[in-house]
Amino acid sequence: MQDIKLNLPRLKGKIIAIDGPAGSGKSTTARMLADRLGYVYLDTGAMYRALTYFALKSDISPSDGTKLATVAEKVPIEFETHQDVNKVFINGEDVTAQIRTPHVTRNVSEVSAHKEVRQAMVVKQRDMGKKGSIVAEGRDTSTVVFPNADVKIYLSASVRERASRRLLDLTKMGVSTTLEEQEAEIKRRDELDSNRQHSPLKKAPGAFTVDTTDMTIEGQVEFIISLIRRVLK
Ligand code: C5P
Repeated sequence: MQDIKLNLPRLKGKIIAIDGPAGSGKSTTARMLADRLGYVYLDTGAMYRALTYFALKSDISPSDGTKLATVAEKVPIEFETHQDVNKVFINGEDVTAQIRTPHVTRNVSEVSAHKEVRQAMVVKQRDMGKKGSIVAEGRDTSTVVFPNADVKIYLSASVRERASRRLLDLTKMGVSTTLEEQEAEIKRRDELDSNRQHSPLKKAPGAFTVDTTDMTIEGQVEFIISLIRRVLK
């Protein structure tokens, strides 16, 4: 049923914010949801990943919050959708594949923990959402970036399930890894993202929790669409 668009007037111009830990299915769900609603899809994790890639390439340390924030303020990060692929650019360079490498994944939580980096990113993210009709996903889209979002969703799934999904994605990309490595990496990022001082991952007041452990992606999207229709009636 993926091709049925929802053109209901009451669903126009809204902000939908989806947060959750790595591998909970946020990106695929948010992208499919945006497509069904005719909304813009905002992958805030891709922005932190693009900044991390740029910093590593430019020899800026992931611990140098001041320099990273200057890059986040000055260097443009843009998205373009080409045949269902959401491309990410930083400083005009297409970094869609590079931002998913284990090297970037290992460093992104340190980069994104700096207060000044987050402030610069939030300005960009709010600007992208100022016209509404957006599905934003990440760790703080429902708590900090768009606290007044019309629908807030917290996606979760077991660590084992999230690690299996990551393993599948990385294997498709040609990265050699194991389920155990992915479980350890996911636990490490959960710990860093949930316990950091600034904008930690947490469920927003008024958010609906959706546990996706036993759901297919299509099932998640259908479930969330029925939730949105109920909330925005
Ligand atoms: O969603 P994804 O796994 O691509 O996010 C990569 C990392 O970016 C997260 O582990 C987190 O450290 C950071 N992030 C964040 N705030 C967001 C989105 C992502 O701190 N809104």
